Amino acid sequence: MALDNVDTLECTLCGERYDPAQIIYTCPNHEGVAGILEVKYDYDVIHDRFDAPLNGDIASQWKYRAFLPVDTGATPVTLDEGGTPLLDAPRLSDELDVSVRVKNDGQNPTGCFKDRATSVAVTKARHAGRDVVTCASTGNAAASLAGYAARGGLDCRIFVPAAAPEGKLVQPRVYGADVLAVNGSYDEAYDLSLEVTDTYGWYNRNAAINPFQIEGKRTVGHELAEQTQDDIPDWVVFSMGDGCTIAGCWKGLREFAELGYVDETPKMLGVQPTGASAIHDAFHEYDDIDTVADTLADAVAVGRPRNTLKACRALEESGGTALTVTDDAILEAETLLGRTEGIYAEPAGAAPIAGIRAARKRGIIDADETVVAVVTGSGLKDTAGAKQAVGPVTEISPSIDDVAAVYGTAPDTLGDDTRPTR
Ligand SMILES: *Cc1c(COP(=O)(O)O)cnc(C)c1O
Ligand SMILES: [Zn+2]
Repeated sequence: MALDNVDTLECTLCGERYDPAQIIYTCPNHEGVAGILEVKYDYDVIHDRFDAPLNGDIASQWKYRAFLPVDTGATPVTLDEGGTPLLDAPRLSDELDVSVRVKNDGQNPTGCFKDRATSVAVTKARHAGRDVVTCASTGNAAASLAGYAARGGLDCRIFVPAAAPEGKLVQPRVYGADVLAVNGSYDEAYDLSLEVTDTYGWYNRNAAINPFQIEGKRTVGHELAEQTQDDIPDWVVFSMGDGCTIAGCWKGLREFAELGYVDETPKMLGVQPTGASAIHDAFHEYDDIDTVADTLADAVAVGRPRNTLKACRALEESGGTALTVTDDAILEAETLLGRTEGIYAEPAGAAPIAGIRAARKRGIIDADETVVAVVTGSGLKDTAGAKQAVGPVTEISPSIDDVAAVYGTAPDTLGDDTRPTR
């Protein structure tokens, strides 16, 4: 077994270093799980090993295997996650008065960005001979873990707030996972999952405390760097819950620039709902941080983010910033993205669009800058949320008169050739 591309695990608080072969989640020098660890790589090994051409041809995130913290002998547990399209968005750009491209990560195998991290997690768990994986989740990480556990032949036991959208409670059970719906918040489900990990010794995927999981999220940064190398955007925009996603992407973007594969890095813009704004509040050094989450964007309904430090570092190092948007603005963004570009995002996936609008209004993003919005999740899992934005459906009887009641009577001038033949 060789994990020879990883140098060490380093505590983000005290700098203490740990052997990456140990199963250790957080630094024991701090109370609870505050001592988040950072994976430090040997970039000489990575640079020597990474020989794939940066030609935009990305079959899956395992193109960047040289960067991933998995043993050279491990067989990936994969459903071809990553390699998602970067789309021009001309009509959306008109609406937002700035040039926007969309990285559609809702196209990942379970419908969410989190598959990138999960594939790495389950690969590591299986290679280490573990047979039970667990996590706490607002819904998407659970569905993702369940899918990859099924793919890898592992048992999956997950903790989800009972109030999660129906689709996110059903999907993991279709993948054969045990789902325990916790009558409590995500934050309470999270604490319970930590206790369970301690008590039962199951492998915990939670990206904030498992230092390796954020590492899979770097591949969205690698892909973006590869896909935009001739036209690097000024801004990359993400929604933030625990803060792992934006931090992971930034690490990927930064390492590609440091290795000289691309010339520049974008600024990161982190977007949170006004009802779940703890990272935003910490970044702007508010004294009174609200730790109770209240937002319809369930995937980022996090009161006490586990990775505020890494997220704030990403914002700061990149020269970016954080802002908040209302739930109404998020719903408006969801239908705007759908209507202008045919991309159906869940609320947390559409929040970056609302963030771009707010950032334009406040002069954070200039009209002549370029932006990539990362859509992190598909809307198909949460139709109830979207229903609030589109309103009730129009019902009619199967009669042409009812159609006429909606569109008016058809003009007589229709030629015969436009009528279907019977
Ligand atoms: C988890 C998630 C996020 C936020 O990621 P964090 O690492 O918690 O900041 C954003 N969008 C979707 C769809 C998610 O599932
Ligand atoms: Zn420490």
